[in-house]
Amino acid sequence: MALARGWSVALFGVDGVPVEIEADVGAGTVRTQLLGLPDAALHESKDRVKAAVRNSNHTWPTQRVTLGLSPATLPKGGSSYDLALACVVLAASQAVPADRLAGTVLIGELALDGRLRTVRGVLPALMAARRAGLARAVVPTASLPEAALVEGLALHGAENLTDVIAWLNGDDTSLTPAPTLDPTPPPPPGPDLSDVVGQPEARWALEVAAAGGHHVLLTGPPGTGKTMLAERLVSLLPPLSTDEAIGVTAIHSVAGLLTPQAPLVATPPFVSLHPSTSTAALVGGGTGLAKPGAVSHAHRGVLFIDEACEFGARSLDALRTCLEEGEVRIARRDGIARYPARFQLVLATNPCPCAPPKDLDCICLPTTKRRYQAKLSGPLLDRVDLRVTMRPLTVMMAPEVADPEPTAAVRHRVLEARTRARNRWAAHGWRTNAEVPGPALRREFRLPREATTLLDRALALGALTGRGADRCLRVAWTLADLAETPEPTADHVAAALEFRERRRP
Ligand SMILES: [Zn+2]
Repeated sequence: MALARGWSVALFGVDGVPVEIEADVGAGTVRTQLLGLPDAALHESKDRVKAAVRNSNHTWPTQRVTLGLSPATLPKGGSSYDLALACVVLAASQAVPADRLAGTVLIGELALDGRLRTVRGVLPALMAARRAGLARAVVPTASLPEAALVEGLALHGAENLTDVIAWLNGDDTSLTPAPTLDPTPPPPPGPDLSDVVGQPEARWALEVAAAGGHHVLLTGPPGTGKTMLAERLVSLLPPLSTDEAIGVTAIHSVAGLLTPQAPLVATPPFVSLHPSTSTAALVGGGTGLAKPGAVSHAHRGVLFIDEACEFGARSLDALRTCLEEGEVRIARRDGIARYPARFQLVLATNPCPCAPPKDLDCICLPTTKRRYQAKLSGPLLDRVDLRVTMRPLTVMMAPEVADPEPTAAVRHRVLEARTRARNRWAAHGWRTNAEVPGPALRREFRLPREATTLLDRALALGALTGRGADRCLRVAWTLADLAETPEPTADHVAAALEFRERRRP
């Protein structure tokens, strides 16, 4: 046989497309040709694969070798095709039997000495392979734990090309079988809410945010516990469902963040950003397979932005786009990489640029303060439902301050409220109050007139935008869920409105 076929996968963000690789070995000028829109990195793989084959005690054909990657119109890049290229060439030159290549996806970069190196995105690549009906996969041993998350694939791990060649020759012991996964990985014990002293308003805002999936802005001087509170929001959220966990893990796989010890991201992630974070790090990018940015690392979790007023206008605008679209699309030479980015946003800011420590007074002029706070653009802030002002502690030993409620107690209420909301919206496919579209709140789930009088007045006065009114209604539903009442009352609407207006420096 002079022709052999094998499979690999092209990744665009977390979307994969199976790529069929054909090798033809025949008479003609001795050269190796690669067809099918390969990029520079993939062109380089020819020499790497040749060296790996030679250093695995096999000869590279001294004939014309033509390698075709199809679909031909799909751009392909990177080093993850190395293993598949090596195996199909060896099969085409009849150095190994071709039978086991049928229906097998091969993923991995080859070192010059034949060792198999792991690549980013093994999980989403195998998910695409399984969807396409491929039955078997060979991946680097180090990638086995994340690969094992894909059900319905016969999975093998390899250390080097020699082991894969032995397997193709019929040796079933040369490759490592898939590990059995721990079905319930213990959630890491995060920091506890009982560590946060005082700040009853901010703690309540956090509980409401967790119950309804709302975004939060915490304004307060340094040392009031903004970061401590933000870090504790994830531990109030329900664990990820299996599908959600796989989706989040696929992003972390492409980002190269997974470790063999923790292959599955089963709890909502927490991602913290500082003003020095570049826009590229925020939304993603880079050469080769585009890396997901912080907004996608935080998918299904919490994105915390400290000193939000110090953020550049470009980053804040990129953030606003993410909140609107729930995903990031990165345009590239080889197509569009798409990464989901649905997260809960927690913004924190000092009330003024001088950020006075506890025992000193602010030296900023009122105009300076206003200009500083105005840096958080209207369109972004308009999407933040809960705004809280935090003040330095004045009493330490009062009973309600000295013995704060622990995470477990708050989480219990949050999960009950979430269940109520999920059951109510189940028929519509919304999971949290924050996801309910405005028209549904105003028509299908319209509240009695006496409950919304206050909103109408705020709208008439121009104190509230239409979108702001929708957001108040969503928070009001969450307050009703926490209070175990069937629908929001005028009090809940008033409290929701206050959450938006409460923004005194
Ligand atoms: Zn100041």
